[in-house]
Amino acid sequence: MKELFLNNQKWAEKVEEDNPDFFQDLSEEHAPEYLWIGCSDSRVPANEIIGLMPGELFVHRNVANLVVHSDLNCLSVIQLAVEKLKVKHVIICGHYGCGGVTASVSNQKFGGLIDNWLLNVQDVEYLHRAAIDYSGQEERTINQVCELNVIEQAVNVSMTSIVLDAWARGQKLVIHGWIYSMTDGLLKDLGVNISNAEEMRSQYNSAIEDINRRYSGG
Ligand SMILES: [Zn+2]
Repeated sequence: MKELFLNNQKWAEKVEEDNPDFFQDLSEEHAPEYLWIGCSDSRVPANEIIGLMPGELFVHRNVANLVVHSDLNCLSVIQLAVEKLKVKHVIICGHYGCGGVTASVSNQKFGGLIDNWLLNVQDVEYLHRAAIDYSGQEERTINQVCELNVIEQAVNVSMTSIVLDAWARGQKLVIHGWIYSMTDGLLKDLGVNISNAEEMRSQYNSAIEDINRRYSGG
């Protein structure tokens, strides 16, 4: 644990050295433009992979980057981000090889509460089962479900009363669906960029079709 405090001291000194007013300025204002909803997986560090400094990204992470309509924690984060901080973009970011999605696809149980949480991923898999390619390698099937899960969660964000009310007020807000690859460190835009309630369904349909087309035929 001592090492972590030493790391922290070194980091704070380095930031201060590069920008002497950094912490002072940051303590006076909180105005991030983006809300990131991603997986808790330690290999997907939100700020680092998109090169943003403290103060630039509001973050919520949970296992399998899920937006569940009864999750008060996630909904509170979305409300604060949209209504108070007035972020302009909400990014749902999944990642290939997600442990939560793997557990769902391979029907693996961890035992306890987490299995209930991951039923939300199983719901996504069940919804799209006719279009999911189970004929090839399991890794490929998992990655297809990882992508489909991102689109479902992006629509879940869009359907919250928080986001619908913001759009009705004329607030500019775009919901994006991305996926991250740990094997090369790169992000991919899954083609869902929802900026109003009217285009939600068409954006959803075209993103889902695109994913299933890319994975069809093993
Ligand atoms: Zn994950």
